[in-house]
Amino acid sequence: MINIKSSKDLLKMRKAGEITGGALVAAGKAIHAGMTTKELDKVVNHYITSRGAKPSFLGYGGFPASACISVNDTVIHGIPSSKEVIHNGDIVSVDVGAYIDGFHGDSAYTFKVGEIDPAVQGLLDATEGSLMLAISMAKPGVRIGDLSAAIQEYTESRGYGVVREYVGHGVGSNLHEEPEVPNFGKAGHGPRLMSGMVIAIEPMITLGNPGVKVLSDGWTVKTRDGKAAAHFEHTIAITPDGAVILTARE
Ligand code: MG
Ligand code: MG
Repeated sequence: MINIKSSKDLLKMRKAGEITGGALVAAGKAIHAGMTTKELDKVVNHYITSRGAKPSFLGYGGFPASACISVNDTVIHGIPSSKEVIHNGDIVSVDVGAYIDGFHGDSAYTFKVGEIDPAVQGLLDATEGSLMLAISMAKPGVRIGDLSAAIQEYTESRGYGVVREYVGHGVGSNLHEEPEVPNFGKAGHGPRLMSGMVIAIEPMITLGNPGVKVLSDGWTVKTRDGKAAAHFEHTIAITPDGAVILTARE
């Protein structure tokens, strides 16, 4: 069942989204070569908890940290570690959620550290571009498949791979709700967007082959070919006038 949010719910979701977006801004200010992913996780935890919210991911399904931090060929669900040092030339995907007043926000951004390979820059631009394209299309009456097909076409036509195993989702009082929002599919298919729906769109795009594997820790998702992957995500609310980004980074 797809939950439709009241205007009261949406006000609370704005707050959850604001804190989520703010946590990514804080992560972006703090990130630098030589720090560990565990230290970056602490920045996110401090930002969220000091605003009276709870990190959505901490303890979710047993996840041991406040942010998923995924470096280079890690696509998603990287576990922050005091042994993992961030280096110049890395890309670092930070995925965060904040829970407050009964609702979650969910957002991800892939940061670059120092100078990166131009091919990897192209991957970041295409992944973020596909997200912003889908957001610009989202309004009542449009189908989920229209967004999915647009993301797939935008990224594959530029030579990148679309991860199939993980998808976007509805967001609300649960971190993951219906409907699923795949990054691949057919236009004209799937549920229609309605005013009051809140969804997270989150393209996970690879420089090479889209095949992925899960490490023995049960969380870390890496590309099989070892090439870089990017992940950008926003939680958006569908309104009569189009989409409002709840997790804007200002
Ligand atoms: Mg997320
Ligand atoms: Mg998500």
